[in-house]
Amino acid sequence: MRVAEQDRGAGPKPEAVGLEAVEAEVEAIVEDVAGAEGVWAGDRVAQVLERLASDFVLDNTYREQHLSLTASENYPSKLVRMLGAGLQGGFYEFAPPYPAEAGEWAFPDSGANASLVGKLTGIGRQLFEAATFDWRPNGGSVAEQAVLLGTCGRGDGFVHFAHKDGGHFALESLAGAAGVNTYHLPMVDRTLLIDVDRLATLCAEHPEIKLVILDQSFKLRWQPLAQIRAALPEGVFLAYDASHDGALIAGGVLPQPTLLGADAVHGNTHKTIAGPQKAYIAFRDAEHPKLRAVSDWVCPQMQSNSHAELIAPMYVALSEVALYGHAYARQILANAQALAHGLHEEGVRVSGESFGFTETHQVHVVTGSAADALRLSLGELAQAGVRTTNIEVPGANGLHGLRLGVQAMTRRGLREPQMREVARLVAKVVLRRAEPAAVRAEVADLLQHHPLDQLAYSFDSYVDSPAAARLLGEVFR
Ligand SMILES: *Cc1c(COP(=O)(O)O)cnc(C)c1O
Repeated sequence: MRVAEQDRGAGPKPEAVGLEAVEAEVEAIVEDVAGAEGVWAGDRVAQVLERLASDFVLDNTYREQHLSLTASENYPSKLVRMLGAGLQGGFYEFAPPYPAEAGEWAFPDSGANASLVGKLTGIGRQLFEAATFDWRPNGGSVAEQAVLLGTCGRGDGFVHFAHKDGGHFALESLAGAAGVNTYHLPMVDRTLLIDVDRLATLCAEHPEIKLVILDQSFKLRWQPLAQIRAALPEGVFLAYDASHDGALIAGGVLPQPTLLGADAVHGNTHKTIAGPQKAYIAFRDAEHPKLRAVSDWVCPQMQSNSHAELIAPMYVALSEVALYGHAYARQILANAQALAHGLHEEGVRVSGESFGFTETHQVHVVTGSAADALRLSLGELAQAGVRTTNIEVPGANGLHGLRLGVQAMTRRGLREPQMREVARLVAKVVLRRAEPAAVRAEVADLLQHHPLDQLAYSFDSYVDSPAAARLLGEVFR
């Protein structure tokens, strides 16, 4: 399946766990809980908890010692992680982002969810210069799919990035099943920019096209949105998927899609935004004729459970962006450029030299065949303590390589000098075939000075404050 080389989020696994091992584990847990005769229940509970703790030890140790250069993941702060633990999230929350009569989907409640949703949508609208903010999609894929289904019906068409140009994989199969025709954005390979004139021709030749969606997940450049809007026939919905660059937009180093003519900006909240695994759809215009259809596809049509426990964590993650987003986004950019230039100087082939390698959190390295790139990312680099994903590099004539992202390491406090060190370590593996175990020791050494419990651009340094103590006292009451 092609998903293997796409934006899976999941990275290399230390080792595959066989079905037998899983069965044995389940049996052991059932035994623990059911208990042998004469074992005190408290001991059995302790055993279950200890088994669980060992998994967390495994994971935390792995994270502490690995360079996370996967472009699609981040480290949420402690408050973001803890706030999902309140009872409040146990209530369904359906309210759509347009005025609606309370009906079958409304439940009596304390008013807390509505208040939290008000806070979250307020900050979301502000960060994305939008009139609405639907917090309900459970992921970036659902958000995209709701936009597709809400704007296109059977016989209509939509345009998005081809996979080789970084397009996301959530749409084409769905479009096929729904009878919607798929077209690809015409690209200029050298610049990695959309060819706006050819896009205009495409839309003129296929008047059934109702949606243009910029859904890149391999993304080095900002696209000329204002020109794209100007080239589209009236009524064509222009959607910008900011799953990857959400914090760069909200932090002000990339432009606001809604101000350049996008009808909606949407995306998930766990790539450059260091929030929970959740998503949003924000419309420029609260009276937009497609708002209701898109929103209803999210919920109740594709989801009924929108995970209300994540409203407060999303709010805190967006508050971190509101407070620190400008510095965070600027450092991401500086780090991506330091990494790209560092790799280039080491002799690694980095995509995009003509435009300064990157305008985002991503750096693309060209290594050769698909098998080559796969072996590097899941083999040598993983053994060297470096998490990356392999991709077909956009604009590289079918060559494959690595997609690196600097956002997580930026949260861990790495800056330009450390990024140059990272470049040296990656080059050692990619180019000089250094012994992975030796590089792994250097990686662990570097990361020792960047602990996971004090993330930059986060509320982590306030987690022991009286205000946080009062909040957490209520969450865990
Ligand atoms: C990652 C990604 C998604 C999918 O987000 P999930 O939260 O994993 O569902 C959607 N669109 C783009 C452009 C992405 O990069």
